[in-house]
Amino acid sequence: MPTKRKGANLSRDTNKSRSIRNRRAQRTEKIVQEKETGARVRMAQLRQEQLDDTRAERNEVMRLEQRQSHRFTVNRRRANDQQRHQAHRAFVATSFLRLAFQYEPDIEYYAHSKVVIGAMDKECPYCHALKLKNEPAGMCCASGKVQLPEIETPPEP
Ligand SMILES: [Zn+2]
Repeated sequence: MPTKRKGANLSRDTNKSRSIRNRRAQRTEKIVQEKETGARVRMAQLRQEQLDDTRAERNEVMRLEQRQSHRFTVNRRRANDQQRHQAHRAFVATSFLRLAFQYEPDIEYYAHSKVVIGAMDKECPYCHALKLKNEPAGMCCASGKVQLPEIETPPEP
């Protein structure tokens, strides 16, 4: 077996080469760290820019939506006013034709003279039925011509 010669170290694992390798490794590590930091900073900047962009975009969109909604509200209000006036006119003119399609909550439909039916306080002189003021006289008993037998008390079960 041949003795190991001093210069036969093929792996070149000397002190010097080791220190060089270590330094190189440290340097590359440092470079990698710097690169990573740079990338992180760039990423953060990019993200911030995107955030700013999206924020600006969102603001713009919101502004447009608000303007549109305002326009819609104004148009709607105008249309509502026209419709309300139409309904009022129709109501005052006592035209109930298709009035339900133009219903307006602020109109007091129940107060209209055609709508108010009054109390059930008109009594028939023949049969003593209580009637509304606009119900005709012969509606209940044909002015006394129809006489129904008195209702007897039913027998106990
Ligand atoms: Zn009657």
